[in-house]
Amino acid sequence: MAADDSPTPFRDELVARGHLIPSGQPGVFGRGDEFERVCTGFDRLVDDAVAPDGAERLRFPPLVPKLSIERVGYLKSFPDLIGAVFGFRGDEAEAAEMAQTAWEHGDWSGHLRQMDVTLTPAGCYPCYPAVAARGRLAADGALLDLGPCSVFRNEPSDDPARLQAFRMREVVRIGTPEQVLEWRERWMRRAQDVFARVELDADVDVANDPFFGRGGRMLAKNQRALQLKFEVLAPIATNAPTAISSFNYHQDHFGHAFGIERHDGEVAHSACLGFGLERVAMALMRRHGTDVGSWPSDVMRELRLDGPRP
Ligand code: ATP
Ligand code: ZN
Repeated sequence: MAADDSPTPFRDELVARGHLIPSGQPGVFGRGDEFERVCTGFDRLVDDAVAPDGAERLRFPPLVPKLSIERVGYLKSFPDLIGAVFGFRGDEAEAAEMAQTAWEHGDWSGHLRQMDVTLTPAGCYPCYPAVAARGRLAADGALLDLGPCSVFRNEPSDDPARLQAFRMREVVRIGTPEQVLEWRERWMRRAQDVFARVELDADVDVANDPFFGRGGRMLAKNQRALQLKFEVLAPIATNAPTAISSFNYHQDHFGHAFGIERHDGEVAHSACLGFGLERVAMALMRRHGTDVGSWPSDVMRELRLDGPRP
């Protein structure tokens, strides 16, 4: 990797400009006002693109029941990425012991027990049980706009585009295979229009998830062969372009896991799309520079960065 292509100089520039605020942990950053305004501006562009379809707007917290993670087999595919939540249930004596160990920066994990929630690893997970609980879908299925979803993935990295905590701007379609595939097809074209409005060259390519281990290589191959996942890629901080948006066809995976029934009683299929908001902001800064005030006026206008602050 050539020196100026390594992730660090771009990350350092983002930090120096106040766009990213280091926490001391890799992949965990605060965000400066300008960076956030770029994220919000892009989020609104997606809002505008989603609105004509009449999607139902739902919002979920950044925690999911552990049961959901178990039902979808998350640990078979991504055991390395999960963030489980542990809490304390002991008595006062044990609390004092734990506090003392923590004060000395020792290992206090032995005092904790696993809670019934985990951090949300993908924005759309909470919506499937919610849809299943409503009973059978209508004939035209369901279309959900989940907004910016805060997610966690245990992948600490020096690459500023590989965060542990970030936001996926998710939209989900549930219904027949034809309905969800037609929707995904339409959105792959639409996403390119959205990126064109902010003058981002965005290439769509077939992709795979980072499945764990040797078995995972087979899963990834299969996912590619069936074209279950597409990504829009753009240069950010490394030599290889980074995924700024994903378009996933889950077949009947979530339909089965949570018992989502179509109007005709068959198991529902689903697809989701996710824009990585921080990655999009960074791709824009890579493309137009980290000095947001000097961006092309058309791009500023599209992102509503030229008007008064909201
Ligand atoms: P789901 O499990 O809901 O189907 P997904 O497969 O769409 O999720 P990804 O494709 O892994 O999930 O992520 C969606 C988007 O989130 C990516 O296109 C990318 O822009 C962003 N993203 C993924 N991982 C990271 C990360 N570590 N840091 C920042 N952004 C990320
Ligand atoms: Zn999703």
